[in-house]
Amino acid sequence: MIEPALLDGIREGQTFLCVSHVSPDGDAVGSLLGMGWILHALGKTATLALQDPVPDGLEILPGAETIVDVYGVGDDYDRIICLDASSIDRMGTIYRPAHEQTPLYVIDHHATNTNFGVINWVEPECAAVCQMLLYLAQALGVQIEKPLAECLLTGLVTDTLCFRTSNTDARVLEAATIFMQAGADLSEITQQTLNRRPFAVLQVWGKALTNVQLEEGVIWAKVSRAQIEEIGDLDLDPGLSSTLITAIEADISAVFTEKFNAEGSPEIECSFRAKPGFNVGDIAFELGGGGHPAASGCTIPGTLDEVIETVVPKLKTVRAVQATTVK
Ligand code: 5GP
Ligand code: MN
Repeated sequence: MIEPALLDGIREGQTFLCVSHVSPDGDAVGSLLGMGWILHALGKTATLALQDPVPDGLEILPGAETIVDVYGVGDDYDRIICLDASSIDRMGTIYRPAHEQTPLYVIDHHATNTNFGVINWVEPECAAVCQMLLYLAQALGVQIEKPLAECLLTGLVTDTLCFRTSNTDARVLEAATIFMQAGADLSEITQQTLNRRPFAVLQVWGKALTNVQLEEGVIWAKVSRAQIEEIGDLDLDPGLSSTLITAIEADISAVFTEKFNAEGSPEIECSFRAKPGFNVGDIAFELGGGGHPAASGCTIPGTLDEVIETVVPKLKTVRAVQATTVK
């Protein structure tokens, strides 16, 4: 159910700032562009902003070339729409003090959403924000044209790992059908996103898999900064944690990737996955991040070994407690 206040607010505004989360994924970019196409159809002016660059493969989405970084963002807009971000910090540097007087509308599907907007439309039942935007377009009387359909199918495909996650229900497939009927090419989108990564990333995976560990139903791997830098400075895609969780013996997977913050101190990006019936969303939230029952993440200051030493026992406890109700 979409709040009438959200629809009215969108109809009333003329200039919009739309923003999604740092380290954007397919649902972030797809929903950001999708929102842009919806606003465009309504005759509005929209600035589409991301703190970090559009990942490789998604730059071909219609409208991606119009996305600006922090330098393209002004102070004055009628409305701000935040997509696929579970907390205010996820907008990164795009959202600044000058924006605090502007009505902020949150459109998200994370159960861990902190409701940081004046209107918060949060649907944990939806597999992707891109699915929610289908319902928004329909409620606003916006036709699903091909560019919009391509953007929205991209987020639906990437957040469901091509309809393989346990939240893939009949409504997800119905939304995908509508996007395909509007001209979006499922095979091309899958090829451009999930079925594509640089050889160098596979080499990093190879090293991480050499040292992969499995204890008490928790499987984990680590990637050091040195390993990444050895083969060029690139961002790892989250496919490794999704691959680890395919281990029959594992109920929870984790990948720990070493990064450095702006001050040069080490921090570890944690990516968690859970088998159906297990939940890694709450533990990620407790650790300062967020996400979904089946896929979540957080960033924790410290060295790789320090963070692994604190987080892995917590994951084992979560798994042990949840195993009593699942099996
Ligand atoms: P991934 O492992 O694919 O990077 O992230 C899985 C899920 O966890 C996504 O829904 C993503 O939004 C969420 N997530 C990952 N890292 C963080 C984080 O640092 N903070 C928050 N709030 N959510 C995160
Ligand atoms: Mn999403």
